[in-house]
Amino acid sequence: MADPGRTEVTGPGPVPVPALFDEVVGQPRAVGQLMAAARRPVHAYLLHGPPGSGKRAGARGLAAALLCPQGGCGECNTCRRALAGTHPDLVVVERTGASLDVDEARAIVVRAQRRPLEASRQVLVVTDVHLAVKSVPALLKTVEEPPPATVFILLADDLPPTLATIVSRCVLVPFDPVPDAAVVDWLMARGVERAHAGSVARASGGRLDRALLLISDAGFVARQDQWRSVPSRLDGTGAVAAEVSNELLTSVDEGLAPLRELHSQELATLAEQAEQVGARGIQGRRQVEDRHKREERRWRTEDLRFGLAILSGMFRDRLVAVTESGPTSVTPGGAGESHRAVRQIEAIDHASEALGRNVNESLLMDALMVALSGMTE
Ligand SMILES: [Zn+2]
Repeated sequence: MADPGRTEVTGPGPVPVPALFDEVVGQPRAVGQLMAAARRPVHAYLLHGPPGSGKRAGARGLAAALLCPQGGCGECNTCRRALAGTHPDLVVVERTGASLDVDEARAIVVRAQRRPLEASRQVLVVTDVHLAVKSVPALLKTVEEPPPATVFILLADDLPPTLATIVSRCVLVPFDPVPDAAVVDWLMARGVERAHAGSVARASGGRLDRALLLISDAGFVARQDQWRSVPSRLDGTGAVAAEVSNELLTSVDEGLAPLRELHSQELATLAEQAEQVGARGIQGRRQVEDRHKREERRWRTEDLRFGLAILSGMFRDRLVAVTESGPTSVTPGGAGESHRAVRQIEAIDHASEALGRNVNESLLMDALMVALSGMTE
């Protein structure tokens, strides 16, 4: 509570959150938990929440705190290297294939037994544990009771029931989707102007990785306008419905360009690394490409859902307008119009739900546009 006798804060005062968690955006609860963990660490943490919510940054911050001789000053050489991911006692394990396999899990077990090289502890960060279903048994005992100088930080997008045994051995640190306002501030600190930051934040679904891709997506604004133009374009004919559906899907494809660019950079880096060690090609190339395909699919689904949300918002506005004009107004067909808007919103919501279930996008969008079209009269 503010002291009424004091109108302004004088002097810099103590900074409660050290630079360790600067990169964790809009997650006060998780940061609070991580700071408490840094003071009294246990053997294993499980940071879980949607992709792009800051789990990796949180893990690096906690690792810095655990490795720093001063408990995480945020400034010393140890902190800086831990935050940059280059400290030798911070080991980040990334799966090479579609999931963490048993051999990789065994390598983690071996690594956990080693002595730290510089610090008084070593920190093992294991990413994508939600996909490590088959290797859970191999990891379980070590995560449950690692050597005293080893701390595990596991990261998972979600917690499937198959992970229950591991989950019960860790302190859970939940991450939420990043709130829109925090995404906006974060983007503005990167030089994005407010209005654009606002629409990117809404389209990001609380994911910073997606927000970053959207700001480098030249067609983002045009794509939103395209969705907004749908209701006025549908004229009741099947031909126009098909044309609109086709255009929407084409521009979702075009929006994939920044992600594809990121993927080809990753493959180029891997190829370079393989060449340096004299390997004949990228090890597990197939799996990397499969992951890229999955990420592209997820991008498309999210982008289509965002577009559908814009569309649904327009019909909702229409419904509100019709309802507010009320029964006293003599709008011809007023009741019919509100009924129609409700059915249009339902059709869009249905399509949006179906998108997550491996449907044929093109058929789904065609059917939706035809349905909406039939409701325009
Ligand atoms: Zn430090």
